[in-house]
Amino acid sequence: MSLLVKPCSFCGRPVPKGSGTMLARNDGAVLWFCSSKCKKNSQSLRRDPRKLKWTAKHVKGGIRK
Ligand SMILES: [Zn+2]
Repeated sequence: MSLLVKPCSFCGRPVPKGSGTMLARNDGAVLWFCSSKCKKNSQSLRRDPRKLKWTAKHVKGGIRK
């Protein structure tokens, strides 16, 4: 992994530094988002990226418990 590219914290796609959004949470975790779409889905909609088909983290057939 290059220092210039981070994986998007939501969809898992690579985010080149200088693009996308960095979010530092109160607990110290740093999240990277490739787009406002990912930020919104993660922060305000609180969606699970594994349940969304357009993310690289999507699990085919759903999540088994
Ligand atoms: Zn993303």
